[in-house]
Amino acid sequence: MNRKRTLAALGPSGGDNIDTNGMGEVVMKAFLRATSICAYLLVGVSAQAQETLTGIEFFERRGINFDTVQIRIETVSPGLYVLFGAGGNVAVSIGDQGVLVVDDQFPTMVPRIRAAIRELGGDDVDFVINTHWHFDHTDGNPLFGRDGSWIVSQVNSRRMMTDNQLINLVNALVEQPPSSPDGLPVITYENRMRFYFNGEKIDLMHFGPAHTTGDAAVVFRGHNVVHMGDVFNSGGYPFIDADNGGGLDGVILFCEAVLNEIDEDTIVIPGHGPVAKYEDLIEYVLMLRTIRDRIAELVARGASLDEVIAAKPTAEWDDVKGDPIRLLDRAFASMTR
Ligand SMILES: [Zn+2]
Repeated sequence: MNRKRTLAALGPSGGDNIDTNGMGEVVMKAFLRATSICAYLLVGVSAQAQETLTGIEFFERRGINFDTVQIRIETVSPGLYVLFGAGGNVAVSIGDQGVLVVDDQFPTMVPRIRAAIRELGGDDVDFVINTHWHFDHTDGNPLFGRDGSWIVSQVNSRRMMTDNQLINLVNALVEQPPSSPDGLPVITYENRMRFYFNGEKIDLMHFGPAHTTGDAAVVFRGHNVVHMGDVFNSGGYPFIDADNGGGLDGVILFCEAVLNEIDEDTIVIPGHGPVAKYEDLIEYVLMLRTIRDRIAELVARGASLDEVIAAKPTAEWDDVKGDPIRLLDRAFASMTR
């Protein structure tokens, strides 16, 4: 199968709209009027419900026990592994020239990450690539940086790591303090960077704002594997950091750009969730395009966030992907600013 044909088969964006839910235009207008007062009240309630947490607290609220969580190792290709622990998925390249990791979770996880690398035959970590600046992908940085690892990120991500940040996760706000100097990237790039390491080319690619403003896809050309960071979530709906410049349109464009760089045999490592395939990324893009088009249709009619939520633009995926509120809230924010 030719990858260009596969991409073309996705068809043009658009065409689907909210009327596929069976809600005609007249009914929709009445519905929008009737719910406007409720919507106003709901916005007030949800704003009050937000509390500010640390990154660790946010994960503990989701049932993660940092004292007991263990690293699970998955071999995606000889010499290339994924470590699942607490936080973003970690990719590890181990070879003749040393060890390169993509993302590094939390400080408490670093000794366990190091142990897993040693178990796989690796030694000290030479390079840490950050897919983006969020705490659950970068809080391990200071420990690696202190011990001599070279930390690499897209330039916008480094900028975000130098300052206090607030991440609006809808049900909570997470405060991310500035990184200590040891944890800051020492090498940055704008759009692309290439490593020649462990016998293959490793491409870091940035395609504009998506999950954040500093996302990278990391393509291991020899292994034919890509780490997508949080632009791709295979375990649920994606989170879009809309208050820090991320957007649903950008997530779609970023994924489409990556699809143009890989082929139908590429293994796709998401920021969160199980290791996936090229076809899974295609399905994800199709889903997000449909959801985006439905929300855009509602926004064009003047719908509020609560009216968008009530219209259930994600209905056919909710059984598999879970609660869509965070996605809808953040997508709406990114599409109405
Ligand atoms: Zn993230």
